[in-house]
Amino acid sequence: SIYICDFLISLFSLFFPQIQFAEQKQEFNKRPSKIGRRSLSRSISQSSTDSYSSAASYTDSSDDETSPRDKQQKNSKGNGDFCIKNIKQADFGRREIEIAEQEMPALMALRKRAQGEKPLAGAKVVGCTHITAQTAVLMETLSALGAQCRWAACNIYSTQNEVAAALAEGGFSVFAWKGESEDDFWWCIDRCVNVEGWQPNMILDDGGDLTHWIYKKYPNMFKKIKGIVEESVTGVHRLYQLSKAGKLCVPAMNVNDSVTKQKFDNLYCCRESILDGLKRTTDVMFGGKQVVVCGYGEVGKGCCAALKAMGSIVYVTEIDPICALQACMDGFRLVKLNEVIRQVDIVITCTGNKNVVVREYLDRMKNGCIVCNMGHSNTEIDVASLRTPELTWERVRSQVDHVIWPDGKRIVLLAEGRLLNLSCSTVPTFVLSITATTQALALIELYNAPEGRYKQDVYLLPKKMDEYVASLHLPTFDAHLTELTDEQAKYLGLNKNGPFKPNYYRYENISTFPLPRTTILC
Ligand code: NAD
Repeated sequence: SIYICDFLISLFSLFFPQIQFAEQKQEFNKRPSKIGRRSLSRSISQSSTDSYSSAASYTDSSDDETSPRDKQQKNSKGNGDFCIKNIKQADFGRREIEIAEQEMPALMALRKRAQGEKPLAGAKVVGCTHITAQTAVLMETLSALGAQCRWAACNIYSTQNEVAAALAEGGFSVFAWKGESEDDFWWCIDRCVNVEGWQPNMILDDGGDLTHWIYKKYPNMFKKIKGIVEESVTGVHRLYQLSKAGKLCVPAMNVNDSVTKQKFDNLYCCRESILDGLKRTTDVMFGGKQVVVCGYGEVGKGCCAALKAMGSIVYVTEIDPICALQACMDGFRLVKLNEVIRQVDIVITCTGNKNVVVREYLDRMKNGCIVCNMGHSNTEIDVASLRTPELTWERVRSQVDHVIWPDGKRIVLLAEGRLLNLSCSTVPTFVLSITATTQALALIELYNAPEGRYKQDVYLLPKKMDEYVASLHLPTFDAHLTELTDEQAKYLGLNKNGPFKPNYYRYENISTFPLPRTTILC
């Protein structure tokens, strides 16, 4: 029937030839119920300067202080439509991208499929995301599907310079480098959109800054833009605000609340990277340490699971009785922060809220307490309150500060309260593959949707596509999916080919913890 279905059906059959797709109507449900309980308000400048930097690249050349804006660089084909740190790092970047490709099976499959079809032919995608090897795999996939791309970084510290170089060498117009100033940040975004003879018709955003910039500076561009795909909680919140105010002038896809983003990226990514971030910065041993995790949402659950598995004694704080009850039933002590603040060795925030750890708590922490944040923005720990004359700051390692009280007590503050895992460690590529595939499918869907399917509102990807993204990642595990029999499908009232769950189904994660010994023995 519609293009997207044809494309996806044939791609799906590459992986699961035994499963036939039935014609299906796509139903799109709108606002997620969760959005309201997150604290999301941040200023543009806050979001743009939240410094989650990717792990330092071994190819970074710190001795070259010249601003990329003052350099004239060209790639080997003589193209100079980019602005990056150093085009000579392209070969290193290419190797990084090749490593990422190994862990991004679904995007590679989309490319394979594209040999025959170009579902993004004619698409001019302007993007603003973290520029990492994983993003490069996404961009090169979009290009293989027929899109032209121009890209800026959504964060001033997260660009992998050598990856940006590889992209520029490959002909992509990339405007980003690690350590941009605030002014550079907006300049790069502007260079992406304000270009003669090229106008974007799709936006891929992470945080909403690019969308905001186009609204502010080039509102007429929206006449040609077919849609916005937004990944982050913050950006999605802004889109809903625009929609509510009647100012959203194109359809937008909320990728953040897709099951395949939220239940995987937020939980598994943090479960795998929290220990890495802490270990790389502090060399701390986890066994027996007392840790308090603020917030028991997806990110908090991931952090708690990892720490518990390492033998830490984990306390949880929550404001929501449902998440609080989950924490209790998962075996954690639910406390108020002030009850444990004197005794804990590590404090981790993951609430998406502001001022969760305030100066009063910082004053009462014991000597050597490690304080860090896993939430999106640097608002959770009141770091500004530590910039007072009586406290001394000592930089002990990159992203590690000792803040010292007059009596000699010191706390260990990581990444100045910014997102720990993206600042101080790497994040697992496979999880990012799931998110990136969701983004690619959202772009394909919005770009190919017939006139009228989407209005000027915010949409979630249909569940069928969530299921499809998941299925594309199953072969990696040599996983064998059970097929419903006709009789079973009838009994459950389901189409044999999905969707398999109603839209309200929550996919709560269980078994994120190792089973107790007794259970294993049984
Ligand atoms: P969530 O909404 O599922 O969980 C947040 C939890 O914090 C909620 O249960 C909420 O009730 C609780 N909370 C709010 N204020 C609190 C307070 N003052 N004290 C204690 N608990 C409080 O959100 P999530 O998916 O877990 O994401 C949390 C944050 O992490 C967001 O900012 C998100 O953008 C970010 N995030 C980070 C990563 C990463 O890689 N580090 C990945 C995904 C999301």
